[in-house]
Amino acid sequence: MFELLIDADQYRGIANAKASANNAHSKASKAESEVHFLQWKVERLTMVTEALWEIIKKSHKITDQDLQKYINQVDLKDGKLDGKVAKTPPVKCSRCKKTVQRGKTVCMYCGEQNQISPFKR
Ligand SMILES: [Zn+2]
Repeated sequence: MFELLIDADQYRGIANAKASANNAHSKASKAESEVHFLQWKVERLTMVTEALWEIIKKSHKITDQDLQKYINQVDLKDGKLDGKVAKTPPVKCSRCKKTVQRGKTVCMYCGEQNQISPFKR
């Protein structure tokens, strides 16, 4: 005959396993939503970029080949034509020459407000 009774420890173990499974499911759903949102943002940025390119192309009479040439120049900044942007070296403070924290413009050592390229990665 089957044993249908479980003790308190077994019950808590089952309850904890269910809670963990629910938590994992919730996190997976949230991650999936974030991926969809990021895909939407990339598509939106692609459309805006393409629209801007059409305006620039018409107003400056430049071609898609010209754009490709400049894309290749940016790609080659790290010496490799690999379709990836070059990683830029850490920024050094213009006053004290120490490394400025990533994503910051103010030096944590001397307080200098540094100019950081808008394309800094
Ligand atoms: Zn500094």
